[in-house]
Amino acid sequence: METNRALAEMIQASQKLVFLTGAGISTESGIPDFRSSGGIYANGNVEHYISRYFYNKSPKDFWKHFKEIFQLKMLGNYEPNNGHLFIKALEDMGKEVTVLTQNIDGLHQKAGSKHVLELHGTLRSAHCPKCKRVYNLEYTLKNDIPRCELDDFILDTDVVLFGDAIKHFDEAINAVESCDLLIVMGSSLNVTPVNAFPEYAKRSWNTKLAIINKEETIKDRYFDVVIHEKIGKAVRNLRDFI
Ligand code: NAD
Repeated sequence: METNRALAEMIQASQKLVFLTGAGISTESGIPDFRSSGGIYANGNVEHYISRYFYNKSPKDFWKHFKEIFQLKMLGNYEPNNGHLFIKALEDMGKEVTVLTQNIDGLHQKAGSKHVLELHGTLRSAHCPKCKRVYNLEYTLKNDIPRCELDDFILDTDVVLFGDAIKHFDEAINAVESCDLLIVMGSSLNVTPVNAFPEYAKRSWNTKLAIINKEETIKDRYFDVVIHEKIGKAVRNLRDFI
């Protein structure tokens, strides 16, 4: 409770907030994360199946695994939870909020957050690698192996695969540089380069850092406030002070 109060005070004292979110913020909406027990990694070598190497080698097999891993058919059924709504509520209170998300589920936007940078891309669209035409999720779901209507090429996903560069890197660094407080929510901080943002912010600008994550992470030592709790519970407690 003391750490919740400390974080609430940090939030109140800050105007520019950056949230760095990961799969753990969406588990309470029903979407499994990768690295919790029961997460998607529990079922084998997921990293291989959602890599650029695998897509290039075997795009047909790639789509089969990709759709299974991200439960693509279910995507429209998921709703934002109190974690996503808490971030949106701070924006409504007049804070300048930027969400840097590693998630590809679109739930921050569904919650109403206005400034969301999807660092790992999105599940909502795919594109033709040849003519660059963009297709929506509905189209991607219609065929087992989605192909371009114009040139029959197998589509490429708009999700950043292992081996790809992340999106919006410069914008993300600018947001981190100019914020008063950076809060990580629901990330194991295992995936580079995003997992280096907190450490970089602390070393470069002595940014105030907080993390809410169910389990310990390999980067906890850089944070001023560490809360090992489920996000739903943590934000309920924070709301008592804000
Ligand atoms: P991760 O699976 O590596 O880590 C998730 C962390 O969240 C874990 O440490 C876990 O303890 C914690 N967590 C789980 N539920 C929680 C809860 N209710 N409250 C607090 N903490 C909770 O996820 P990551 O760090 O985001 O990195 C893995 C990659 O996973 C990202 O690249 C992302 O694109 C991809 N991914 C995204 C989704 C999604 O969009 N929802 C789902 C699965 C994987």
